[in-house]
Amino acid sequence: MGKIAVCPGTFDPITYGHLDIITRGAKVFEEVYICVLNNASKQPLFSVEERMELIKTVTKDIPNVKVDSFQGLLVEYAKKVQANAIIRGLRAVSDFEYEMQITSMNKVLYDELETLFIMTKSQYSFLSSSIVKEVAKFGGNISELVPFPVEKALREKYKN
Ligand code: ADP
Repeated sequence: MGKIAVCPGTFDPITYGHLDIITRGAKVFEEVYICVLNNASKQPLFSVEERMELIKTVTKDIPNVKVDSFQGLLVEYAKKVQANAIIRGLRAVSDFEYEMQITSMNKVLYDELETLFIMTKSQYSFLSSSIVKEVAKFGGNISELVPFPVEKALREKYKN
């Protein structure tokens, strides 16, 4: 069996927390598909295309990473790209319940697929895309939280 993993998420926008999980996941798997969820109900700040572009820019030095998007069931996407694992990041206990629900559901839908969790580096355990957007909106310093191209894109969004 190949070692292909999918790293799904909203990535609105990608942060150093996401990047940490992606970089570490890419050391374990032969190929990692970063998959942007096209989920209209979340009302994202960045379009799917903008999010994908930012991810491509900040992961350009990781050769075994591919950036894609999907709509619908993650298990169907995993089957399509022949992935046998999903990678998710875990920050705090508060992430656990939600992740357990999704993981259990995915297991019911597609038993071959394993979900693996990578625990975040402690310096990113508070970090989320929502927090970054909140700080950026009010002009706070986000240079420690997101790569420069993402910081630039956020400044552009909140210019007015
Ligand atoms: P979702 O809406 O699917 O939770 P996110 O973009 O918020 O999408 O997160 C995608 C993945 O990245 C999730 O597994 C999440 O736990 C992980 N993640 C987000 N922020 C961090 C962080 N600071 N450290 C580690 N993992 C993170």
